[in-house]
Amino acid sequence: MRFGRTAIKVAEAQARIAPFIHPGDTEQIALADSSGRYLAEDVTATHDVPHFRRSGMDGFAIRAADTRGATRERPVLLEVIETVPCGDVPTTEVATGQATRIMTGAAVPEGADAVVMFEMTDAVEREGKVYTAVKKEIAPGDNVTAIGQEVQKGTMLLEKGRRINAGEAALLATFGYDTLSVYRQPTVAIFATGSELLPVGEAIRPGKIRNSNSYMLANQVENAGGTPYVQQILPDVVDEAEEAIFNALQTADMVITTGGVSVGDYDILVDILAKWDGDVLFNKLMMRPGSPTTVGRWRDTFLFALSGNPGACFVGFELFVRPVIAGMLGKRERELQPFTAILGADFRKPGAFPRYVRGKMSSEDGQVVVRPNGVDKSSITVSIVDADCLIVIPPGGQGVRAGERVTALKLNVVD
Ligand code: AMP
Ligand code: MG
Repeated sequence: MRFGRTAIKVAEAQARIAPFIHPGDTEQIALADSSGRYLAEDVTATHDVPHFRRSGMDGFAIRAADTRGATRERPVLLEVIETVPCGDVPTTEVATGQATRIMTGAAVPEGADAVVMFEMTDAVEREGKVYTAVKKEIAPGDNVTAIGQEVQKGTMLLEKGRRINAGEAALLATFGYDTLSVYRQPTVAIFATGSELLPVGEAIRPGKIRNSNSYMLANQVENAGGTPYVQQILPDVVDEAEEAIFNALQTADMVITTGGVSVGDYDILVDILAKWDGDVLFNKLMMRPGSPTTVGRWRDTFLFALSGNPGACFVGFELFVRPVIAGMLGKRERELQPFTAILGADFRKPGAFPRYVRGKMSSEDGQVVVRPNGVDKSSITVSIVDADCLIVIPPGGQGVRAGERVTALKLNVVD
């Protein structure tokens, strides 16, 4: 395997992963804990909204026919028979010549077919009785929301796989979903490999760098909807690394490693994958950065062996790991969504493979413009900060000139 690596296209690599993507386990949780989780059940309206005839105004519930011919000069007098605060139910039917004082959101009494707002009435008292003088003709139905006018019972509201954001939470509460079924967050074990790596808390010293990939990946996992477990740094020693990785394959929903997949002398993942009893879906890609990115399956668990170069590691997660997590959360759109944009600055690097360049979007003269984010060497961590898209530079030629159209993939979309 060390020398027999066949490069495939990104789309082919994603297609090899796709058949193994399935919705994950579900669990029942309280609505109060549901922010950011993904629905595992379709949500339908359990009742009409409103489920009683509801007043849209503070005013008087009346029979519209009673106001025929009413004007400012010749108002119609209606006797006020009851007051209904919000949350109370009216007790008396409104008959001809009568009105019920009612607040916004309260139930409209039987007999009434419209609500006239306070501003169109005057209060009148005669012989100890209270009347309202209506100064305008009112049409039937005015300011009364009919039963089921907003939502009818049984209407499909939210499909499974939807992320619970503010609007979803409000709907779930409205329809009594005190507890609900969501997809369990996939657990992802993350290993950095490399004898040059230091734990973040240690002082730097010659030849050593701090492990930044694990924390970058942990953030990406969370953003995708999974639960990251950052594991220890593995040295470039096959046996030691192998044991840790196999332990994780048996406990986590998936495992990510970074580093050790190239053709260097100490690229241990290559050795582990050459002799394991799992499958390798691919181990070389026609793309930059991250051409040695390797994905395998051991029993039912994915092992994503991403490049050690931070830029390549980042891109590898977005293209190959994110869709698997998305699928386990029941999402329909699994891959990063492409869009067309104008390239804002020359990218004049020829390449045999498509290049995924970290970039930034902006809107200029009504057009979406994307610009490469600083120097795009795969080892430069700095250009990952602020990146909100991956610009796809096609292979061949001399790169792409400013002003030409390119395809880009949206990053950081939480939905
Ligand atoms: P490798 O893919 O193992 O050959 O790693 C390539 C380069 O990426 C290394 O020389 C490091 O500079 C860098 N690198 C590897 N792993 C990490 C990590 N966990 N955090 C930051 N940089 C890393
Ligand atoms: Mg290494």
